[in-house]
Amino acid sequence: MAQFDIVIRGGLVVTPRAVLRLDLGITGGWIVAFQPDIAESGRNETIDATGLHLFPGVVDPHVHFNEPGREDWEGFVTGSQAFVAGGGAVFFDMPLNSTPPLLNVETFNLKRKLGCSAHADFALWGGLTPGNVDQVEKLWNRGVIGLKAFLCDSGIEEFPAIDEASLRLAMKRAAPLKIPIAVHAESEALTRQLTQERLEHGLNTIRDWLDSRPIEAELQSIQRVLQLAGETGCRLHIVHVSCGEGIDLIEAARERGVDVSCETCPHYLTLTEEDVFKLGAPAKCSPPLRSKASQDRLWEHVLAGRVDMIGSDHSPAPPEMKTGEDFFKIWGGISGVQHTLPLMIDEAHHKRGLDLPAIARLTSHNAASRFQLRAAKGGIKIGAEADLAFVDLNAEWEIRREDLLQRHPISPYIGRKVRGKVVRTMIFSRTLFLDGKITGKHIAQLLKHQPLI
Ligand SMILES: [Zn+2]
Repeated sequence: MAQFDIVIRGGLVVTPRAVLRLDLGITGGWIVAFQPDIAESGRNETIDATGLHLFPGVVDPHVHFNEPGREDWEGFVTGSQAFVAGGGAVFFDMPLNSTPPLLNVETFNLKRKLGCSAHADFALWGGLTPGNVDQVEKLWNRGVIGLKAFLCDSGIEEFPAIDEASLRLAMKRAAPLKIPIAVHAESEALTRQLTQERLEHGLNTIRDWLDSRPIEAELQSIQRVLQLAGETGCRLHIVHVSCGEGIDLIEAARERGVDVSCETCPHYLTLTEEDVFKLGAPAKCSPPLRSKASQDRLWEHVLAGRVDMIGSDHSPAPPEMKTGEDFFKIWGGISGVQHTLPLMIDEAHHKRGLDLPAIARLTSHNAASRFQLRAAKGGIKIGAEADLAFVDLNAEWEIRREDLLQRHPISPYIGRKVRGKVVRTMIFSRTLFLDGKITGKHIAQLLKHQPLI
């Protein structure tokens, strides 16, 4: 009688600390054996992973799948299928751009129901705006992963930017409960002024738009929010830091004892402002893509382990919102949920020598632990759920429009050649993606934060 449901043989297993030539025995969805040379076959399946690397399924702390209310932009099904095709296992959905945004328990309940149609497990960010500071504890107790605020205009009317007094108050309430507060850090005062100065004179080109969102706007805002987190003792997470200078500030705050984590996105690591001119709307995002020098500095921090995690910030919109003469009016958001892991393997490992365990930490382990997912998520070990991305590390391939599984096939990466390919994705031991095709459906589970030990 076979001991395991599934045996995976011959693969190279990427843990947060090492790459190990080990076989996996899986029973009931969980990894129960993790050892060299499991001789017997699985009851249901024996997978030969010779020549492949097994990464922990991607935990993406930042996507916008937009349900309910903006399903025409993206949806839980299409967004999560694209995610799974890139090795995805758990995504954290932002409180916008659904409508209504997730600002209270009723919307949490609604989103939770809708999220169960997804192909991957998920967590929900709650929103924090001037009007719902009184919901901080209620949303946390209901199970949000943290609360997200905008320090500048979000682009969505129902989700206003938070003012400093409200943010301080929310942070004071969040601190004793250890609730993470995530912020989009760009100075509203500065971006608004620079935008007005340009639009008053009819200046609306790509160059004008980039100039309206300079690095200083991001740095001022990061600095301010780091001060507030230090003052209140709140756990802070800074989303999509676009430049190395931003990480400099975060590092300095960490040294002062501020409890802060940060993410950057594949696009800040693989594209620069030159690409905004070349690609136009598909490469528009906020904060914008930066200069090569800022990007080099960001890479230094990533390679030195000073960036905690990579979020895709998958933020799609319908094609008609990604076109037009006035670059200010075009929707800002990059769709990249399908390519985080391959882009990191190509750019960080092959081109810059980052070791594979570091990539596993950046794309899975660190987000799971910072946001207190249950211990069975975010890594490959005994007792973990079998969420696995099977990667052919040296496969060279091209990102093609026809292979994008998100709702709208818009991506700044179309035509890009990448080395490192996801060939199979498994969640809770079920193969959901194999050789370019969705092959199964996982019953998506909402993941809540676990108590801090
Ligand atoms: Zn976002």
